[in-house]
Amino acid sequence: EEKTGLNFVEQIVADDIKEGKNGGRVQTRFPPEPNGYLHIGHAKAICMDFGIAEKFGGKCFLRFDDTNPIKEDTEYVDAIMEDIHWLGFDWGDNLRYASDYFQKLYDLAERLIKEGKAYVDHQTSEEIARQKGTPTQAGVASPCRDRPVEENLDLFRRMNAGEFDEGTYVLRAKIDMASPNMHFRDPIMYRIIKTPHHRTGTKWNVYPMYDFAHGQSDFFEGVTHSICTLEFVPHRPLYDYFVDELTDGTYRPRQYEFNRLNLTYTVMSKRKLLQLVKEGLVAGWDDPRMPTISGMRRRGFTPESVKNFINMIGYTKFEALNSISLLEHAVRDNLNQVATRVMAVMNPVKVVITNYPEDKVEMVEMENNPEDSAAGSHQMPFSREIYIERDDFMENPPKKFFRLAPGGEVRLKGAYIVMCTDVVKDADGNITEIHCTYDPETRSGMPGSMRKVKGTLHWVSAKHAVDASARLYDRLFAVENPAEEKDRDFRELLNPDSLKVVDGIKVEPFVAESAKVGMPLQFQRIGYFTLDPDSDSSHMIFNRTMQLKDTWEK
Ligand code: ATP
Ligand code: MG
Ligand code: MG
Repeated sequence: EEKTGLNFVEQIVADDIKEGKNGGRVQTRFPPEPNGYLHIGHAKAICMDFGIAEKFGGKCFLRFDDTNPIKEDTEYVDAIMEDIHWLGFDWGDNLRYASDYFQKLYDLAERLIKEGKAYVDHQTSEEIARQKGTPTQAGVASPCRDRPVEENLDLFRRMNAGEFDEGTYVLRAKIDMASPNMHFRDPIMYRIIKTPHHRTGTKWNVYPMYDFAHGQSDFFEGVTHSICTLEFVPHRPLYDYFVDELTDGTYRPRQYEFNRLNLTYTVMSKRKLLQLVKEGLVAGWDDPRMPTISGMRRRGFTPESVKNFINMIGYTKFEALNSISLLEHAVRDNLNQVATRVMAVMNPVKVVITNYPEDKVEMVEMENNPEDSAAGSHQMPFSREIYIERDDFMENPPKKFFRLAPGGEVRLKGAYIVMCTDVVKDADGNITEIHCTYDPETRSGMPGSMRKVKGTLHWVSAKHAVDASARLYDRLFAVENPAEEKDRDFRELLNPDSLKVVDGIKVEPFVAESAKVGMPLQFQRIGYFTLDPDSDSSHMIFNRTMQLKDTWEK
């Protein structure tokens, strides 16, 4: 990998092209089941599948693996397409559904029945599972294994005609009940499902299993490299077995496997994510705490940061647990380059600059992004009354407190140096106002601004600032590897402090004018934020994408 810059699957593709396999053609597919929203694990597969097509001038098909109508829905189809586009990939004309191949798959099944390679079994799934045996012990043949071809054909047709209830019959491949590969012990090819399909309606009453659909769909489409995750390694011989029934040898798809993306402090199973959504434990699939692509987008992650993270962890043949800190690092790294710097005060206290004229307003210029000279600047109003963070002031500060304190000076970023002269308190002793004087010679850009003061604070002009709310997110789970805690319900492991809502934050007017959903902002000295779609014209809500520094590492 070091030498070529290719990951190990890309290296295989490069070698195949060199050898002229499949006429030098490269075709991949990304095959999501539309039974949930995509998560960051899927992003890893997307980067691999679409990345190979881009790198080698091939094609990547988007194929919805819609073989189980019970769990599938067009809502998921639409969300999946939106998420792939957001990541920056496109399938062009190459959109397919496994259901496009239902007829071809059915025809192949009938052919295998006629050739004595498949039979209809009437036993319960429990019975079938029990007869499978163990890896070291041969299975027991089903009493249906030698059912005559005509009877199998008749039963299979009647299964599909809707004559039988779900669970009464299955079609099985007749392979080898003693195979050391458990997947070869007469795997189920078709089961009866009566739930209408989101595309084919009630046309079919039998639906193919993954192993009987995937390789053949790859073949029908012309896929050359069918890339999936490591848990499919033991399925590969069966993949080849069914493809062998179709190919004349001039072309065949091949399966390759890489390690799944697993992240600390979250879960990646669609079943569990669906449960969190259904039980209202999160606000939806796109809740900013979710490991979904839509959640990360809403939280303010950029597609670049997700792709950079996937590049950093790479592709191997060994399962691993990836640290969410690495993802957070990639997000910070990219946001530092692209986020527009603005001022927002999260927990405001008023500062009155007593020697500044009552009605005067000065506009000060603020750089939009010191990392990007092309990002320009914006104007921010300065006036007699401003807000600063309550914890940027201390009445009796410890030695190394470099922020504001009685008699001390700080710089207001982009404006003047001020000195605290007084504090005003209410009857309970809470500070309601801080009084300061400013030094008119110290405005940014003036020679007097060169004077050294230890602290620089962010601030907003009180009469110009706009009220808003912020949602502060933290890790969804309180434990590093929730999937590993087998004896606890994963829902008990949720981090109870994963969301805090802060109302009454004050943002500078430029934010109110320019913030858009998804636009990356840096609230200076606070963190990265973006506007949430729950906002409306009268009230802005900001999602905290990430704090400026990793507060979890020591
Ligand atoms: P689940 O098991 O949670 O239902 P899935 O793997 O069945 O998820 P699919 O929609 O079938 O979900 O996945 C589509 C593609 O994404 C597959 O090729 C699969 O291997 C890949 N994929 C899914 N999860 C991950 C992951 N965590 N890391 C890398 N690739 C993944
Ligand atoms: Mg699945
Ligand atoms: Mg799957």
